[in-house]
Amino acid sequence: MNTSLTAADAVAVSDSPSDSDLDYVVSCHLPTPWATFRLHAFVEPSTGKEHVALTLGDIADGKPVLSRIHSECLTGDGLFSLRCDCGPQLEAALRMIAEEGRGALFYLRQEGRGIGLVNKIRAYQLQDAGADTVEANEALGFKADQRNYKLCLPMLQHLQISTLRLMTNNPRKIAAMEQIGMKIAERVPLIITRNPFNDRYLTTKAVKLGHLF
Ligand SMILES: [Zn+2]
Repeated sequence: MNTSLTAADAVAVSDSPSDSDLDYVVSCHLPTPWATFRLHAFVEPSTGKEHVALTLGDIADGKPVLSRIHSECLTGDGLFSLRCDCGPQLEAALRMIAEEGRGALFYLRQEGRGIGLVNKIRAYQLQDAGADTVEANEALGFKADQRNYKLCLPMLQHLQISTLRLMTNNPRKIAAMEQIGMKIAERVPLIITRNPFNDRYLTTKAVKLGHLF
């Protein structure tokens, strides 16, 4: 193991595009009900995992970019689940970017806070039996949140974004972005409606994971 790397070296290494864990592949237009975005595809060479970014307007002009970092949630984003707030957050973020005419959404394929789809369904089964979202993940041997936001760095660099107006209720996400060298000009809250199915989930996120609602 090389222990001679200083902190400055470590930053220099992670900032180097040739050392990024993500390769940019291709872009296309993506019409949605709110705007026609640009959709950019990236691949993680080490795992073959595919991630995307949606952008709108001129985001490479150096001004703060209204941004959302969204982790994949098949049940919430695609299957209309009311167990979580992912689907409404995704829609609200795209709508807000469209209203502003400028912004970026990073869609990271780390399902179930990083534990994967099948394990998320295992965790849901434990929650059906009474556990909360954090207890369920821990009972399965996972940390409460296994997500890795460093994945964003090569995407942000490719899109020439350095300052964010970050749409999030999660202070950890702000800290994670600052850790990879992004400037946060503003936190933009995402207001999500509670329902009888997501009520306990949202409360657990606030109490145990520090989310702001
Ligand atoms: Zn979800």
